[in-house]
Amino acid sequence: MKTDVIIIGGGAAGMTAAIFAAREGRKVCVIEHRSEPGKKLLQTGNGKCNLTHENVCAGDYLKPGRCSWRGAQAFGREDVLSGVLGKAFQVFGYRETIIFFESIGIPVRNKGGYIYPYSGTALSVRNALWDEMKRLGVMIMTDTEPEISFEKGMFKVLTVTKKKADGKEYTEKKEITGEKLILATGLKAAPGTGSDGSGIEIAKGLGLKINRVLPALVKLKCSDGLCKPASGVRHICRSTMYADGEEAFKETGEVQFTDDGISGIPVFNMSRFASAALDDGGSVIAILDLLPDFSSEECYDFIDKNYERMKDRKLISFFGGLLPGKLLTAAARSISLSSEKKVSETGADQMKGLIGICKGWKLEVLQAHGFEAAQVCSGGVDISDIDPSTMEVKKFPGLYVAGELADVDGPCGGFNLQWAWTSGAIAGENC
Ligand SMILES: Cc1cc2nc3c(=O)[nH]c(=O)nc-3n(C[C@H](O)[C@H](O)[C@H](O)COP(=O)(O)OP(=O)(O)OC[C@H]3O[C@@H](n4cnc5c(N)ncnc54)[C@H](O)[C@@H]3O)c2cc1C
Repeated sequence: MKTDVIIIGGGAAGMTAAIFAAREGRKVCVIEHRSEPGKKLLQTGNGKCNLTHENVCAGDYLKPGRCSWRGAQAFGREDVLSGVLGKAFQVFGYRETIIFFESIGIPVRNKGGYIYPYSGTALSVRNALWDEMKRLGVMIMTDTEPEISFEKGMFKVLTVTKKKADGKEYTEKKEITGEKLILATGLKAAPGTGSDGSGIEIAKGLGLKINRVLPALVKLKCSDGLCKPASGVRHICRSTMYADGEEAFKETGEVQFTDDGISGIPVFNMSRFASAALDDGGSVIAILDLLPDFSSEECYDFIDKNYERMKDRKLISFFGGLLPGKLLTAAARSISLSSEKKVSETGADQMKGLIGICKGWKLEVLQAHGFEAAQVCSGGVDISDIDPSTMEVKKFPGLYVAGELADVDGPCGGFNLQWAWTSGAIAGENC
């Protein structure tokens, strides 16, 4: 079978690319190895799909802007990244994204800058993309594994599709040829949704340079057992990360404590840096200010003011208006202090020590969780090899890369999907 454009991967980027290519009058075939397109999309934003952010710009994806640490600069691609993203967002940025979603029946809702479908459901977004592909006559092959080669200016894809008839499973093989191929397979984050790393092998097979792939936007494992007593607590903290002693990242937001470490949006954002530093063999420390709205002096004043009246209380109750009990217990335990101790039996030094911990709880980050737990990956196809005005691979005319497979990752907040929409639309429109 001959088609104009073959798209490998029916995720956010692949579906967008298919729609834009088909709107240009191209005959499009999407090859997806899972049973339905957009499985990951269904999980985004806790099922609500944070589509984009109203202030999205190239700077959001860079690392040194938020980070002076050598590891981030060692990516050595910040100028390139900034150029690629700047150009790509000029072509298809926030405004174009909103117009696109309105065109497929998805008006949006702005929640403090974070953009969601008005329905509040990721399912509505996935289904709208799927329905638009069908309307435009895009051929969607699911449950299909591709094997790709390039001969005489044409991409040849041998497909093996799992099928069922009369309760029996069988496979069907086909050959599809096309002049243009868009790779939109994602990397390895949440592999259960389909991005199992096979796309990386396809890209390598076509001669593309792949930068180190690591989990990003993922929870972090910290110093043994320290966080366990606070497991389940969510608390606003100022989180600062140090890599090899240098400040690499800082953000205030809700940290979630887990059995083996920390999670939550600021931790996910931190993990983009921590993952690389740890992979380089560096040491990573997270310092949590559990009372970011108070200076140490204000905390001491709190103790002085309340000491006499509340000296018969336990520490957990004395500080109960400032910190969740489980969190105070965990922090106190790290200096071998029991939160059950009475205030009157706790010396001034210990009280000050406790404030010291609450204002700067030091956690050694041992490891980032793996790809299964990650929302995105850093790394992928080197973007200096891609023309951002078309998403075509410079040295391989006819071959395009879209979405997470390209080495672009951003923080939480709609930035990663925005890249999928942007790169997918540009690739689809220009292939
Ligand atoms: C739990 C979770 C929540 C998230 N929430 C948000 C959010 O709210 N906002 C946001 O901006 N980002 C969010 N993200 C990130 C966002 O989902 C990704 O950045 C985005 O899905 C990447 O799109 P993509 O199309 O490049 O890759 P994917 O969505 O991973 O799609 C790749 C597709 O290619 C298919 N595929 C892979 N290999 C092959 C192959 N060899 N042959 C055929 N098909 C193949 C896969 O099955 C998959 O369907 C979240 C991610 C997760 C896991």
